[in-house]
Amino acid sequence: MLKPGDRIGILGGGQLGRMLALAAARLGLDCHIFAPEADSPAFTVSAAATVADYRDEKALAAFAENVDAITYEFENVPVETVRFLEGLKPVRPGSKALEVAQDRLEEKRLARRLGARTADFEEINDLDRLKDLIAGPFGVPAVLKTTRFGYDGKGQAKIAHAGEAEAAFAVLRGQTGILESFVRFDREVSVIATRGADGAFAAFDVTENEHRNHILHRSVVPAKIDKIAAGEAVAIARRIAEALDYVGTFAVEFFLIDGEVGRQMNGQVIVNEIAPRVHNSGHWTMDGAFTCQFEQHIRAVAGWPLGDPARLGAVEMINLIGEDAVGWRDILADGRAHLHLYGKAEIRAGRKMGHVNRILG
Ligand code: AMP
Repeated sequence: MLKPGDRIGILGGGQLGRMLALAAARLGLDCHIFAPEADSPAFTVSAAATVADYRDEKALAAFAENVDAITYEFENVPVETVRFLEGLKPVRPGSKALEVAQDRLEEKRLARRLGARTADFEEINDLDRLKDLIAGPFGVPAVLKTTRFGYDGKGQAKIAHAGEAEAAFAVLRGQTGILESFVRFDREVSVIATRGADGAFAAFDVTENEHRNHILHRSVVPAKIDKIAAGEAVAIARRIAEALDYVGTFAVEFFLIDGEVGRQMNGQVIVNEIAPRVHNSGHWTMDGAFTCQFEQHIRAVAGWPLGDPARLGAVEMINLIGEDAVGWRDILADGRAHLHLYGKAEIRAGRKMGHVNRILG
């Protein structure tokens, strides 16, 4: 168990690392950020920083020497990096969670093993197999994705008819792919939850998410979801965390097919993705819950008891993407809007610059 004044090492220096470091600071814990980019947003709010490649073992060893526990804010950190660090200091969550979450096939296999629904899926390594599946029982529409390193809709293509198979295959650029049946969902929801070092589990209320151009635009709680489906989503998240022996905050993204009102049929939750880290759809918790997702993660990494995740009201989070951030003065004019800016110097299209939380009532 860490004590106040101890230091947490964070792999990754983006806005998630920054908000983790701010939460740690409130609890009297220092952070040391390890990231390859010299202008990482987390550096300016942390006690120490290392700019080095994730495969630089000398730099990793020095980083481990300077911290009491290690975590990550970025799921594309090489698994070998985390394994190397695990030999030196406690790493929470560990390499097992990272390994599964980096691979869409493994993620879906795990979800299925745990009794959760997913889209139908098949591994794709060659174009002929893809064409056979599309023409055969799998059919269209379907979605082809790289199994690894995809985010915000990158590395994926929708296949509406057989003639599109070849173009979709090109998106894989020689990497292994996963072909998924296209889910005609009513809405997208996520469960953000935390598992403590002692196995305690705390989930935030299910969050409803709206994407624009494949990037999260707005999250709102409570989500429009029936109680049984919401309970099932949280139970699935818990089973995933337990199966991975997970310690920390994580997210499970689901497609939701609404239940039919009046026929006692509850909605269906279909697992899409697991994120082994704090998550954009949990940013509302910073102002809308007794304990936010970042503090929960820090508590878990420190081996401390978890806080209460209960919601303070109906809450909305809106991402400030690219030029949206130019409107910061207007947002400040609303004295009840909670503005969060990530300290990124340069505005770029599609870049997450900040977010705004509002308690709706
Ligand atoms: P992902 O990178 O897997 O989170 O996918 C990005 C977005 O693409 C999701 O949020 C969905 O809106 C859409 N999408 C991904 N997979 C599917 C699927 N199998 N069926 C329908 N829509 C999908």
